[in-house]
Amino acid sequence: MADILLIGAGTAGITAAIRAAKRGKRVVVIEKSDSVGGTLHYTAGHMSAAGTHLQHAAGISDTPEQHFNDVARICGNTMDAIITRKAADLAAGTVNWLHELGYPFHERAPAILYGHEAYSIARTYFGKDDVSPKMNRSGKTILQILLPLWEEQINKGTIELITHCKLIGFQHANHQITGVVVENKGEQQILTAQQYILTTGGYAANPSFFKEHTPGGSRLLSAANPAATGDGIKAVMDIGGIFWGGDKQMFTLGGIETEPGSGRIDFWNAWARMSNSKDRKQREIYVNDRGERCMNEYDWSVDQRERVIREQPNKRCWVIFDAKALRDGDCIIPQWTAEQLEEESAKGKSIWQADSIESLASKTGLPLDSLQATVNGYNEACLTQQDPQFQRSYLQHPIVTPPYFAILTYAYALISFGGIRVNEQLQVLTEGDIPINNLYAAGEVLGAAATSGEAFCGGMLVTPALSFGKWLGDTL
Ligand SMILES: Cc1cc2nc3c(=O)[nH]c(=O)nc-3n(C[C@H](O)[C@H](O)[C@H](O)COP(=O)(O)OP(=O)(O)OC[C@H]3O[C@@H](n4cnc5c(N)ncnc54)[C@H](O)[C@@H]3O)c2cc1C
Repeated sequence: MADILLIGAGTAGITAAIRAAKRGKRVVVIEKSDSVGGTLHYTAGHMSAAGTHLQHAAGISDTPEQHFNDVARICGNTMDAIITRKAADLAAGTVNWLHELGYPFHERAPAILYGHEAYSIARTYFGKDDVSPKMNRSGKTILQILLPLWEEQINKGTIELITHCKLIGFQHANHQITGVVVENKGEQQILTAQQYILTTGGYAANPSFFKEHTPGGSRLLSAANPAATGDGIKAVMDIGGIFWGGDKQMFTLGGIETEPGSGRIDFWNAWARMSNSKDRKQREIYVNDRGERCMNEYDWSVDQRERVIREQPNKRCWVIFDAKALRDGDCIIPQWTAEQLEEESAKGKSIWQADSIESLASKTGLPLDSLQATVNGYNEACLTQQDPQFQRSYLQHPIVTPPYFAILTYAYALISFGGIRVNEQLQVLTEGDIPINNLYAAGEVLGAAATSGEAFCGGMLVTPALSFGKWLGDTL
């Protein structure tokens, strides 16, 4: 019998397997897809950690306590404090480990980044090629660093990988898992081991589960790994595990649907940049389905904007601007040029252009009276340099030069915030906080809310997934 049966060979899973196998444990890994890596193939892979060698070298003073306090500040104490403290305590060890393994950190890392609500100290790490705004996938670099260690253990036979093998459910008795029901290449089987580690990720690519567990339950727009269907969470709930945190779901701004009705967002090639940064100021206004402006577009708080859009009808807004704003600096879609945006707008799928506000309203379906009043109000604010409605201070681009543009953007899910409850040992909990003694979990299966609360705290998914995987591999 295997020492450990590991379910899901992604960010947390491969890390746990590598570390356990290195200690001589015999690990069987099941993975429902045809290869390993999971969300590492998709993620930006930004990490956060306090007290690292890189911070010391840069003369930055930081502690896990300060990291924990910053997370608590950003999310208003809505995280799981025990799990977040553990994540903050383990994070430096993870980043130092990747550093020793040769991870090519960017020379600007650690830095304070502004894509999410900013930390108060430079503690975000990313890869050498990861240059904003055209990010590369630092997650792929993490995978490249881990794969040689993984292959070493596969070659030694300490890790046995079974692909196309899907977790269906657990068998259990007396707070112990006694077997795992899997579908292995179409055939149902029971697999057993001494200990079980669940690392099957979240559910941000499962529209029905997402709708059921997210307040407001609107249509899911997703940029998550398509394998993130919540299988592990469902299997744990089926045996009495506690689900929590779905009500804390947050969304990323600026999602442009790849094809209308597809529900998919291409995070790497087309999204509207709706956050401020030092190199791009907002030249646009954000208008909801009622044709009304819904926020101070120049607000520096990413968290604040994310909360506003989450409350708008259909969790979406229209980015409206004119021909001058289009060409006055970086394109609002960081991967595109102004010419590309114009070409796309000719197709009229998610982006439109028109010679008048009346025609723009007709093409987008926005109510004309309201849209016209919104544009007039904003133009007046630009003229007087006063925005009584939202107190926006950067008012340089009145919407007066045709053609006018509209981009339909959605608040979309990269990650899911709900997950299963675990204790400090990462044992899965059932009602009354009674642990299932030999079932452990790590990664997004715990829910983003565990380590990030009701907010996006930079790096607080990838880093805990790696750290908890590493910790389980080192201790079980
Ligand atoms: C575009 C994008 C950008 C992101 N950027 C960041 C960032 O910069 N910083 C950050 O901290 N977080 C970020 N995240 C989130 C973070 O990357 C993920 O939360 C994390 O990688 C998830 O790791 P995991 O191990 O839990 O799951 P995964 O890496 O998804 O691994 C789960 C594995 O389990 C397998 N599996 C699923 N169901 C079954 C089953 N029934 N049976 C067997 N196997 C199964 C899957 O195929 C997969 O291989 C981002 C996410 C996305 C999508």
